Amino acid sequence: MTEKRKFHAVRGVRDILPPDTSLWNWFEATARDVLEIFNFREIRVPVLEETELFARSVGAETDIVSKEMYSFETHDLPDLAIARSDILLRDPSVEHPSSISDYQDRLRVLYAALQHSFLTGAAPRTPQNQHAINHLGALERAVKELTLRLSVESRLVPGSQVPPEPNASRLRNELKGLVHDVHYALSQIRLGDVITLRPEATASVVRAYIEHGMQMLPGLVKLYYAGPMFRRERPQKGRYRQFYQIGAEVLGQTDHPAIDAELIEMLTVLLERCKLENWTLLVNSIGDTNCRPAYVALLREELQKVKDQLGPDSQRRIETNPLRVLDSKLPEEQPIIAKLPMISDHLCEPCREHFAELRRQLDLRSIPYKVEPRLVRGLDYYMRTTFEITSPHLGAQNALAGGGRYDGLSEMLGGPPAKGIGFALGQDRFIEVIQTAGRIDATRALDAFIVWMGAAAYPAAVRLARRLRQEGLCVEVPAEEPKLRKALGLAERLGARFAVIIGENEVQSGEFTVKRFADGEQRKLAEAEVAAFVKAPAQAARESESKSEPAD
Ligand code: AMP
Repeated sequence: MTEKRKFHAVRGVRDILPPDTSLWNWFEATARDVLEIFNFREIRVPVLEETELFARSVGAETDIVSKEMYSFETHDLPDLAIARSDILLRDPSVEHPSSISDYQDRLRVLYAALQHSFLTGAAPRTPQNQHAINHLGALERAVKELTLRLSVESRLVPGSQVPPEPNASRLRNELKGLVHDVHYALSQIRLGDVITLRPEATASVVRAYIEHGMQMLPGLVKLYYAGPMFRRERPQKGRYRQFYQIGAEVLGQTDHPAIDAELIEMLTVLLERCKLENWTLLVNSIGDTNCRPAYVALLREELQKVKDQLGPDSQRRIETNPLRVLDSKLPEEQPIIAKLPMISDHLCEPCREHFAELRRQLDLRSIPYKVEPRLVRGLDYYMRTTFEITSPHLGAQNALAGGGRYDGLSEMLGGPPAKGIGFALGQDRFIEVIQTAGRIDATRALDAFIVWMGAAAYPAAVRLARRLRQEGLCVEVPAEEPKLRKALGLAERLGARFAVIIGENEVQSGEFTVKRFADGEQRKLAEAEVAAFVKAPAQAARESESKSEPAD
């Protein structure tokens, strides 16, 4: 009997349920509208990309690429993959000595199969695979030789499969080394492409820009995307492993700061439409390939002096990516970071001028901002302008949106020279602050619940429902004949604004009883009149009636 079990969403990912989904849909529609009035058009990029794309653009040393990506190999060689995992799971150096010949057999078969799939092209014919498979062949021969030696030396002890000590432990150690090398060789073999669930979308957009020759399009290429991203971060409030971003990218031949400012302006328009206040815009310039290297060298030097006072992550980053140390959120590191040299004091003249013009452009648009010299952002491809919008309502994960300039990313990915800037906003977090602010009501009300009684009333109910739905109203018709009181109770619990009651009498008279729950008002109306009554807001309806009909 199969075990009964309940399934749950996997760690760090979640369901988004009604009525919240109404707000999600409202937000998406609003964001799309704002993006489109700024002349951005949507691009839909895949959720899967080659892992290498992110390693090259986001940066191999970033947290995202080094530990947060969901990556896997994709291929049509399931048997080979099973044989490979089987070898990886075995360690004959700790098992009974007799297991070594079984291991060697399996390794021989795996090696032959790998070689075959490489030669036929079923596995990628890359130099890396060629090298790793050759290495595996040499290891297979070494294991075979060891197997023979083991068997010969075992004969020294009659009736035993184990050679005398210390030969036994020497062979075991040798085997341990070989098994380790086999694991390494196997880890270098790719049965197919290694692909990743996208942790962000800028890399994909730039890949698509290059792939489709979009540099040939007239003017700036202004694209936006919306969809889920995946990062294996430690889940906490506001931080999910599947989260949703809406982002925009501008690619083209100019890097004028007006582009940066307009992109930021667009975000502020969206914040306004969401009726959000109290947000903060942080801006910075992180220099370019001309001035940043000298600053990074200086920063590294200064960081070396305070290395002992930093945590392990920051210590590691001194070598790998010193700028990221500035991004640290550890409270105990903040006083140290505050004393480090600031990039703003080390910008070259063109970068300094670019940043000054960005600030003038923001002033021109009356957009309030704060210069935050520590704002470096976590992805490698940024240069010059970086920005972030934070909200005090979000707690530790307070970034609503972030972005920056990435001139040169196209070239890095093998494309034509292009300047670029973009941002991504976190939809999960926007929704949270919109809910906290409570100024947007996007819930879709049930407009009418049709209570029908008697078989003759059902066709009338179906006809009325169709008519009301044609008018864009949301209508519920019970599938089975309901009891009047129960049905009215259900209608109220469902939040229906109106109940329409159709009994045999109503069918005969052609007039339905329509009840407005807000004030209990009840009317007899012909089928054609129901929609207008349901559509009129309760308050407005009463006011217009009191004006036109003198009270008696
Ligand atoms: P990033 O791509 O890291 O610059 O992130 C851009 C925006 O996406 C952030 O400002 C957040 O609002 C949102 N975001 C990033 N990571 C997560 C996550 N793990 N969970 C929820 N939102 C996220």
